[in-house]
Amino acid sequence: FSGSGNALMWFRKGLRIHDNPALECASRGVTGGGFLYPVFVIDPHYMEPDPRASSPGSSRAGLNRIRFLLESLKDLDLSLRKLGSRLLVMKGEPGEVLINCLKQKWVATFEKPKGDPSAFLRPATTTLSPYLKFGCVSSRYFYQCIQDVYTRNKKHTSPPVSLLGQLLWRDFFYTVAFGTPNFDQMRGNKICKQIPWNDNDELLTAWREAKTGYPWIDAIMTQWGWMHHLARHCVACFLTRGDLFVHWEKGRDVFERLLIDSDWAINSGNWMWLSCSSFFYQYNRIYSPISFGKKYDPNGNYIRHFLPILKDMPKEYIYEPWTAPLSVQTKAKCIIGKDYPKPMVSHDSASKDCKQKLAAAYELNKKLNGVVSEEDLKVLQ
Ligand code: FAD
Repeated sequence: FSGSGNALMWFRKGLRIHDNPALECASRGVTGGGFLYPVFVIDPHYMEPDPRASSPGSSRAGLNRIRFLLESLKDLDLSLRKLGSRLLVMKGEPGEVLINCLKQKWVATFEKPKGDPSAFLRPATTTLSPYLKFGCVSSRYFYQCIQDVYTRNKKHTSPPVSLLGQLLWRDFFYTVAFGTPNFDQMRGNKICKQIPWNDNDELLTAWREAKTGYPWIDAIMTQWGWMHHLARHCVACFLTRGDLFVHWEKGRDVFERLLIDSDWAINSGNWMWLSCSSFFYQYNRIYSPISFGKKYDPNGNYIRHFLPILKDMPKEYIYEPWTAPLSVQTKAKCIIGKDYPKPMVSHDSASKDCKQKLAAAYELNKKLNGVVSEEDLKVLQ
């Protein structure tokens, strides 16, 4: 097993360091200053003494074989120590022990921004949000579990990127929401910038129905139920300050209905964040609906899975299928404008337009010290 630069080698029968392809493969999985963890798991079913047996040992193995196994483990440990390592011997049902062991490591090294938003078969984060939302798992219990891991792993990541940091974000939004009148709306909300968003239902519907013509955005909007945090960033930015300039409350309402983890405080808080209405104000930093996803998933596997109409589109066009020559579209059985929509806006000009509108709105908020009326906003529309 390998991940985050570390690798775990599960010794089963190859109790040696010479001529061991699995060990070789595990060492290749160690990157960037990571560690290799050699592990052997003693299965109690194999070792438990059997009082009914005629000779000493367990029901599965006589004493001599058990002794030979223990001596071999000692020898393996000595060989590893010569290389500056050691054998970690654990006891329990091997599947369970190993999964726990991998998770410890995983929790301790969790770094949110490094997660891959396109990883859907094996998501990059805990996917605990629906369980926390419905209270199947208490946040205090989760907090305690994380602390236990940190106690065992002195070298661990820290907030805001660590797993503990994620829980703190949750509490941050709960706290601000509790203390802010009208937290879930723009009007009358003191922490929210007043911005002349549009109420264009056509744009909203295309976004909600995954028909924007940008495969990365439409694939995320098809994954519904649960999406990775950065995937939520991309679609929320696209709907609001990035491209369509639709009101964040509208996007929030769509999320509220369709997310399995939809949570009043967290959802509204993050929509304000992503629309640069509160908490985060760098409106010049816009997620590209083309290059952002490509960075993680150049082959477009995520898109192919959630938008099967594009499954045969060659890799070089998967993020921008409208640029594919007609012959390529025909071969891929996907004609843009017929089988899959053309992009509803040009990202370059739409994002430029959004930035200008945000700049003007920020200026107005500053001039009027945040006390902006509907009439004031109309001037900007
Ligand atoms: P992990 O990264 O494993 O984090 C563990 C837990 O920490 C999460 O389950 C969650 O309870 C909490 N957490 C993580 N990130 C955040 C965050 N940014 N803000 C607050 N708490 C966080 N999360 C919801 O639970 N419900 C929502 O309705 C919701 N709406 C969102 C809307 C937008 C526009 C955005 C950008 C994010 C939203 N999030 C929401 C936050 C975040 O995306 C999810 O909590 C996270 O992706 C859930 O996956 P996970 O459980 O694997 O998270």
